[in-house]
Amino acid sequence: MTSTNNRIYLSPPHMGKHEWGFIEEAFETNWISSVGPNVNLFEQEMAEYVGAEGAVALCSCTAAIHLSLRLLNVGPGDLVFCSSLTFIASANPILYEGAEPVFIDSEPASWNMSPIALERALQDALRNGKRPKAVIVVNIYGQSADMRPILELCSRYDVPVIEDAAESLGATYNGKASGTFGKFGAYSFSGNKIITTSGGGMLISNDLEALERARFLATQARDPAKYYQHSQLGYNYRLSNVLAGIGRGQLQVLEERVQARRHVFATYYKHLSSIPGLEFMPEMSYGRSNRWLTSLTIDPAKAGFTACQVVEALEERNVESRPVWKPLHMQPLYERYPYYPHKENEHVAERLFRTGICLPSGSNLTDNEMFRIIDCITSMVKITSSRK
Ligand SMILES: *Cc1c(COP(=O)(O)O)cnc(C)c1O
Repeated sequence: MTSTNNRIYLSPPHMGKHEWGFIEEAFETNWISSVGPNVNLFEQEMAEYVGAEGAVALCSCTAAIHLSLRLLNVGPGDLVFCSSLTFIASANPILYEGAEPVFIDSEPASWNMSPIALERALQDALRNGKRPKAVIVVNIYGQSADMRPILELCSRYDVPVIEDAAESLGATYNGKASGTFGKFGAYSFSGNKIITTSGGGMLISNDLEALERARFLATQARDPAKYYQHSQLGYNYRLSNVLAGIGRGQLQVLEERVQARRHVFATYYKHLSSIPGLEFMPEMSYGRSNRWLTSLTIDPAKAGFTACQVVEALEERNVESRPVWKPLHMQPLYERYPYYPHKENEHVAERLFRTGICLPSGSNLTDNEMFRIIDCITSMVKITSSRK
């Protein structure tokens, strides 16, 4: 295979220079398990970076969302609201606790949770005498949701907010780190995220007591006794000291990773945005997106081809791309739960799913690789316009 045919991945890991040092130190000092200096320091460094009082290192972002629900005493039959346009992991912890999800559509401007759909859902819930126990707000593809109106509504209705910031580490909202606006924030270090520990997550909050309880629940809820005694249900959710070392190294290059992904977006935008029917995910004036994945919609009536055809054409050239998230209210697992569209006749997440595509966006993507992708898409324009 020639180098031009090497597979291009959607969002592969991108290691820096510092990870090995921290891993080696863990081996030399024999801190291999879920206790050790890397875990403590990774928590401190993350809390400092995002500007939160504290942080708890966990084995995944899913675990962080699950613990947030436990800390808010979510239980069987409780209502929990959640953005519909997201990865399944945002909502699964609701079902872990036997609670009932209610899905909220996106707004067209930011692609994130629609405040007007949220307001209708809150009004209905209160009319039915059932206040939701939490609202899980997702910051999709690296851009913060419009937190001001969302927080205003949630505080008016007295509902705590959990921010799923799995995709938005390094992004800001009104100058403050994305993920720090709710009662709890959850970050992911899964292999495809902007920085990775191979797998891992972080729960952040300003409530140190709640975080201490999260540590307790994440380590099998062991009572303070001389023997192994347990009065509550806990989990094995801690991050290992070795992986926390990878995280400390990755955190040092986070700002470079954000700049690189923004460069990837800018390059695609420069060469593709003039094609009729292509519309890139906008960046809102309220903050900075980390541009985790460059995403755009394609109107086939104007472009002459669909997003799905682009995914197929790229695959033929050994390039991985993917459709925008299939909204959770359309998932077989979740379609029986309530869902609130942006407006009665405007289903934004469904439209984004039908017309949207995410292009390879790794921070280690080379300009040559980007031009393989750009050439593929521009050649589709030529083919379809010559057919007319
Ligand atoms: C990746 C992702 C998660 C899950 O993160 P894990 O660390 O793999 O559990 C949750 N929510 C969103 C929006 C994600 O993109």
